[in-house]
Amino acid sequence: MPNAPRLRLVLGDQLNLNISSLRDADPSHDLILMCELSVEATYVRHHKQKLVLVLSAMRHFAKQLKEEGFKVRYLRLDDTENSGSFTAEIEKILSSSDCRHCVMTEPGEYRLKLQFEQWQQAHPEYTLEVREDDRFLCRHEEFRQWTEGRKQLRMEYFYRWMRRRYKLLMDGEQPVGGNWNLDAQNRNPLPDTQRPPKPVRFPPDRITQEVIDLVEDRFHNHFGDLHEFGWGVTAAHAKEALDSFIRERLPLFGDYQDAMRAGDPWLYHSHLSVYINLGLLDPMQAIRAAEAAYESGSAPLNAVEGFIRQILGWREFVRGLYWLWMPDYPRLNYLQADRPLPGFYWDAKTDMHCLQQCIQDTHKHAYAHHIQRLMVLGNFALLAGIDPTAVNEWYLLVYADAYEWVELPNVHGMILYADGGALASKPYAAGGAYINRMSNYCTRCRYDVKQKTGTNACPFNYLYWHFLERNINLLRHNPRMALAYRNLERMKEELREETNRSAQIFLQQLD
Ligand SMILES: Cc1cc2nc3c(=O)[nH]c(=O)nc-3n(C[C@H](O)[C@H](O)[C@H](O)COP(=O)(O)OP(=O)(O)OC[C@H]3O[C@@H](n4cnc5c(N)ncnc54)[C@H](O)[C@@H]3O)c2cc1C
Ligand code: SF4
Repeated sequence: MPNAPRLRLVLGDQLNLNISSLRDADPSHDLILMCELSVEATYVRHHKQKLVLVLSAMRHFAKQLKEEGFKVRYLRLDDTENSGSFTAEIEKILSSSDCRHCVMTEPGEYRLKLQFEQWQQAHPEYTLEVREDDRFLCRHEEFRQWTEGRKQLRMEYFYRWMRRRYKLLMDGEQPVGGNWNLDAQNRNPLPDTQRPPKPVRFPPDRITQEVIDLVEDRFHNHFGDLHEFGWGVTAAHAKEALDSFIRERLPLFGDYQDAMRAGDPWLYHSHLSVYINLGLLDPMQAIRAAEAAYESGSAPLNAVEGFIRQILGWREFVRGLYWLWMPDYPRLNYLQADRPLPGFYWDAKTDMHCLQQCIQDTHKHAYAHHIQRLMVLGNFALLAGIDPTAVNEWYLLVYADAYEWVELPNVHGMILYADGGALASKPYAAGGAYINRMSNYCTRCRYDVKQKTGTNACPFNYLYWHFLERNINLLRHNPRMALAYRNLERMKEELREETNRSAQIFLQQLD
């Protein structure tokens, strides 16, 4: 029926006027529903900055919708009539009006998808129309088709396919410059003299300050610090962050993409994931802005290709895999890792300076860049054999950009190899030498990165070999691990025993 009123549900990470649920919304008929739910804030105890970011961005978005003439029913966390459930709120409205039809964009988490499906089954008298989330650049069906007939799903081939589809950095059928991937140029440590520009931060306005007070009051026992809250909470903020990245950081993004420096997680990264994941910034807008910088000569190809690969390649790839492999994926534990998460992941009380710094950055900003997440925090969890469920929960709650569709494949597949190599072709395991090469962490560490065994040796060194020993039957056959195992076998028996002993002592103390 034309012009029949519709209820439009907008979830907290769908803050975009062009989202599929709102695209045909009619301000004169339709009602938009937005809910702050206690259960969403606490199903894992999210970092306080993440709570402020999402709640404040939701409130700003609702304000914008009202200014555009829409009727909005907005339930705050502390509203007395807030039932605490999306479906109960939908039902309340549908049962008390002429409207029988609710439109929403599909949720980003399997858990919520199931909730809505179950409600629809129980309530055939209403229609819940769930539309595809076309903020993503690869639709579910397209991704499924791409996977068909492939023995292995590898990001690199998906990325090339996406580049061709979107004609990005292409010269006819070939990549501009002749190479698809310029990562080999992007592995430079940051010289001491190099001073990255300050990141764009946004001082809290009245709405954000109100939410900060609310979060301090209701969620004071959650992880994280609120003092340095400076995330943007509107699409205009996100655009400003994008413009500043393109102007000031993109030219060196590639060169220093893998570098780490004590006390500075921002470096030349974009800090845009929070905005893209919330809906405040369109991923293609970020990609096109980087491409334009290359075309105008203001950023080199290694930077622009590297940045585009992260969004067009990795981001879309992990999202495709999440929906392909849920709900069984989180239950996989290929390496049978079962050690509890060490307490220092919460309070940063460890002598390992690299871990201490990355955890402090995370606590202070709800942010750490990719290599900190992968090669320090993640590498340690892999080498120490920490239970994937505990590691997943930690990553899901500590980062402001974390939602299960992106967190789970990165943690379960990329860092923990819990899927036995379905996502990554080999475990990202490394000793202290890698961290020493890419950072200045080791210069102020109580451990010696050059020592291999004993109480002063860098724990990453003996844990690396112990990891290989422990998992020999599971990893030896992997051709990409052949060199590592050849090196292990060449090791003198005495040193091999000493390495294992050092690792065992360390792990016992950890327990
Ligand atoms: C263990 C682990 C957990 C992670 N958890 C998350 C998460 O919960 N949420 C999240 O958005 N990203 C996650 N990532 C990916 C990546 O670390 C972050 O996207 C990035 O650090 C965000 O900072 P940035 O915006 O400055 O990124 P930049 O370094 O500037 O990269 C540009 C953009 O590329 C995208 N991107 C880059 N790498 C990835 C990736 N591996 N997967 C998906 N998108 C990517 C992001 O949108 C990012 O904004 C995780 C990576 C690892 C190794
Ligand atoms: S010596 Fe080892 S533990 Fe210490 S900072 Fe370097 S890599 Fe980390």
